[in-house]
Amino acid sequence: MRVGLDYHIHTFYQRCGNETLTVENIVRRAEELGLTSIAITDHLNRPEQLPMFPHIRHDIETAETDVEVFFGVELNFMECDGEWAYSAEIRDEHGFELAIGGIHSAYTDSQDPVEVLDIQHRHHMRTLADPLIDVLVHPYWFGKADIEKRPMEWWERLIAEMPDDRVTELAQASAEHNTPIEVNACAIFYSFRLSAGFIDAYVEYLRRLRDAGALFTVGSDAHDIGRMGTTEYVEGLLDGMGVSAERIWRPERQ
Ligand SMILES: [Zn+2]
Ligand SMILES: [Zn+2]
Repeated sequence: MRVGLDYHIHTFYQRCGNETLTVENIVRRAEELGLTSIAITDHLNRPEQLPMFPHIRHDIETAETDVEVFFGVELNFMECDGEWAYSAEIRDEHGFELAIGGIHSAYTDSQDPVEVLDIQHRHHMRTLADPLIDVLVHPYWFGKADIEKRPMEWWERLIAEMPDDRVTELAQASAEHNTPIEVNACAIFYSFRLSAGFIDAYVEYLRRLRDAGALFTVGSDAHDIGRMGTTEYVEGLLDGMGVSAERIWRPERQ
């Protein structure tokens, strides 16, 4: 069933998204697309980025719409095994309603898949266990610089040959902490950098997470207004995989 969810959208304010992504435009577009519940989640990679967030919050609070709009933030580790630029105090002071987070680098030039997986996995596990984090974002997404260091077949095998213990540990931690694993439209399924073989392997990886009991959530990761609505594919994919509505996480308004 398609509910119309998107819990990962960037804006122009933080220069994460381009100039099409004002809160007003996002809300109008969400209405046109039939979305019912969304979150605006700009990057907070460093403390210096905090001062822009009150503007986003203000625009969300003054938007006139029937769409449920959450004020969120996307977090990144400040270095390998480092901290977030985030705390309970920052959350309360700024009124963030949800925090999505995860690793955004390979943190190694190694061609050894075990080494690359180990670094990703330990950051994923730490993210799922963190009470400040509501969603683990885009597992096994890598940026351009990291991707170009290895051939695409290497990346396809990385996902296709994911060891069982990596899958089951992640799924069990997701269920145990009630923290969903994001199925990200633009970073994975609409990425122009990834091959069809990678996408096929990723769908199989999601099936394995499903079988191992993971919770999921839906995000476009739109950095342009034209990329909103890509979540329709993700919702369809989860539906086709037989993931029930109870296992698709949604934020709760306090
Ligand atoms: Zn991200
Ligand atoms: Zn993002």
